[in-house]
Amino acid sequence: LISQPFKLVSREVKPEDSKFQAGPLTLGGKTIHVIAGPSSVETRDQIVGTANGVKKAGATLLRGGAFKPHLSPYEFQGLKHDGLALLAEARRETGMPIVTEVKDTATLLQVAEVADVLLLGSRNMQNYALLEAVGEVRKPVILKRGISATLKEVLMAAEYIVARGNTRVILCERGIRTFETMTPNTLDLNAVPMLKSLSHLPVFVDPSHGIGMRKAVPALMRAAVAAGADGLLVQVHPDPPRAISDGHQTLDFPEFEKAMDEVRAIAGAI
Ligand code: PEP
Repeated sequence: LISQPFKLVSREVKPEDSKFQAGPLTLGGKTIHVIAGPSSVETRDQIVGTANGVKKAGATLLRGGAFKPHLSPYEFQGLKHDGLALLAEARRETGMPIVTEVKDTATLLQVAEVADVLLLGSRNMQNYALLEAVGEVRKPVILKRGISATLKEVLMAAEYIVARGNTRVILCERGIRTFETMTPNTLDLNAVPMLKSLSHLPVFVDPSHGIGMRKAVPALMRAAVAAGADGLLVQVHPDPPRAISDGHQTLDFPEFEKAMDEVRAIAGAI
């Protein structure tokens, strides 16, 4: 069965689930970890306030983009190094490990110096130079599924990272492009049991990008946990309509708190 084209990430090579440290936390173990925070780091108050808000609701890691690749070159591209510094400040204030996107090989080491967990975004899933470079870095990495990537392609991208020595890879389903036009993406929950049966790597789900509609995000948080996800990546902002990016798919604190209570109930029942 090692006839499967992926080897190191295959469950046949390593039957037991992978678990590893991210800052003080163990990812891939029994605990479902929720990574929450804004699409983009905007201001000190916004990111520190969000860190406190999501921590209170039960999130264990803080997300926030500092280097932001966007569809249009005219959209906000992130606060870059200033954004990293603000994330580090939020970590100092709350103790939460930080998750932030790495956009290219040129800035990888600068981002890796600050981040506890790297986020390799969907646009970069098949950026082989970046995959190889991330494979040389000793930081956990969340590998997001490309918008039109098959599960085999996701696993092969993970193989690139692990083959270079970085075994701390988390696979992340974040919605794919389908014929449906009412929602920007379609969350493919098939990916959760499929990836978990094919690979020993932890599988997270991003319900925010997965449906791209704020009101529907809590339902998909619940569904992802019921499907067996090891963790969630959720966009949260103190005032979503005023968020610089992704406000349409971002929860506010009361919405997030309520969704977390529901997720805990589901996690406790399975
Ligand atoms: C993100 O999570 O910040 C992000 C940019 O997501 P994606 O790469 O899945 O679009």
